[in-house]
Amino acid sequence: MGSGSGSLVWFRKGIRIHDNPALEFASRGASHLYPVFVIDPHYMEPDPNASTPGSSLAGLNRIKFLLESLVDLDLNLKTLGSRLLILKGDPAEVVIRCLKEWNVGKLCFEYDTEPYYQALDVKVKNFALDAGIEVFSPVSHTLFNPTDIIKKNGGKPPLSYQSFVKLAGEPPSPISTVYSSLPPVGHLGSCDISEVPTLRDLGYGDAEQDEFSPFKGGESEALKRLDECMKDKKWVANFEKPKGNPSAFLKPATTVLSPYLKFGCLSARYFYQRIQEVYKSMPKHASPPVSLIGQLLWREFFYTAAFGTPNFDRMTGNRICKQVPWKDDDKLLEAWREGRTGFPWIDAIMIQLRKWGWMHHLARHSVACFLTRGDLFVHWERGRDVFGRLLIDSDWAINNGNWMWLSCSSFFYQYNRIYSPTTFGKKYDPNGDFIRHFLPVLKDMPREYIYEPWTAPKSIQNKANCIIGKDYPMSVVSHDSASKECRRKMGEAYALNKELNGLVSEDDLKKLR
Ligand code: FAD
Repeated sequence: MGSGSGSLVWFRKGIRIHDNPALEFASRGASHLYPVFVIDPHYMEPDPNASTPGSSLAGLNRIKFLLESLVDLDLNLKTLGSRLLILKGDPAEVVIRCLKEWNVGKLCFEYDTEPYYQALDVKVKNFALDAGIEVFSPVSHTLFNPTDIIKKNGGKPPLSYQSFVKLAGEPPSPISTVYSSLPPVGHLGSCDISEVPTLRDLGYGDAEQDEFSPFKGGESEALKRLDECMKDKKWVANFEKPKGNPSAFLKPATTVLSPYLKFGCLSARYFYQRIQEVYKSMPKHASPPVSLIGQLLWREFFYTAAFGTPNFDRMTGNRICKQVPWKDDDKLLEAWREGRTGFPWIDAIMIQLRKWGWMHHLARHSVACFLTRGDLFVHWERGRDVFGRLLIDSDWAINNGNWMWLSCSSFFYQYNRIYSPTTFGKKYDPNGDFIRHFLPVLKDMPREYIYEPWTAPKSIQNKANCIIGKDYPMSVVSHDSASKECRRKMGEAYALNKELNGLVSEDDLKKLR
């Protein structure tokens, strides 16, 4: 052990061949290459108590997306004379077992800033180094190395987008290695290797879910989608968020590349390079923060803030998060999560989340604002957990960052600006086609009532085959009074945070509840 000329490349995210420095370094000069992915049962296996199909950590759509991504990686490796080795168990234990069993001199895996991976990687790295195995763990999930940015900023992450952009500069180019073949897989010893499992192999039945996400996982799919987006140069050059239409679902208004970036089926650096190529060929283009490049920089911004902020994923003990006496109201949370708030715009978005695992950014704004500071005053961490489980692009840094943003807990503080659950969607989709698609119970509701069906006279409800309170719920709150009350509570919490310079105790919060 430790002197072998074989290499182990450990895939976690970074499920791709292109711009993959860990794979490139592992294959360089190696007699054998062991491409490994470890299925962690905690992440993948059915949770019988979950409110929607999936494991306790991931909804079925994301598990399916991951399996598709692994099948694609396996196929791509096979065309290069290799294959993906699937093992099952606790990832650290499994990788250490492989390192003991195989004649490996190099262990290569993408560096990951998430706390889960930080803890995992220390265990594996320590074992490898003690065993004399070279460890190569490059940054390739993000454009920049968050550590470098934090260093440039005097040891703290920049907390405004503008200051981040100023510090960041230009990212490194993607690596351009193209393989004609990869070293063969070595002797496997007694390690229990399998093919990529199917959903059925993992214990999911055929009828677990009535509609799956239209977005299929994998590097091939990611590159195809990227090519499609980049073909429309005018669209790329003029892309400005938040100008798109959040209710567009047949052809979404944004790239829908987020799940591919999340699993690393697509390299952010390659995406960035392709956008720059389009920009160079056009007479003018949009700029950050609203441009497409600007979106990728938002991703970097949240990654850096998350990496440099202890307890980024919670309110207490998080120095950048306002302390707010949120409610822990399980009933309201459930109504929101299940798409039963009685506000069709909100409910349709939540059903899109359950069915597709993806929604437009402004749709996410609407439902996150509604759950927290807009109407229900439920803790952002509870909404974060729902998104964290159901989104196919669920990403620790970006999800927490955006939930703090939308709840006015950090980054954004204009708590008086509340998204209306009845008029915001109407601006984009007056006929309510988005609602009719995701909430078929309202499909025959006339357009003048589609956003506020409780205002429809009984005769109209009868004709539309939708009685409010029976076929579709009555609204859980009155938006006018609920939003007024939310503003008041946010005002009080902000005053207390200011007075106490952010150091609000649990007792102070209780007094405000
Ligand atoms: P595009 O507009 O095409 O943007 C291209 C890429 O830029 C995205 O794929 C994404 O990687 C990045 N990006 C765009 N907007 C943001 C943003 N605001 N913050 C960070 N990166 C961004 N995005 C996730 O990838 N994972 C999450 O878990 C997640 N949770 C969110 C939770 C809330 C409450 C909100 C309001 C937003 C969340 N977002 C999350 C950010 C954003 O909504 C999605 O990245 C975007 O809608 C994905 O669609 P797209 O790929 O078509 O984006």
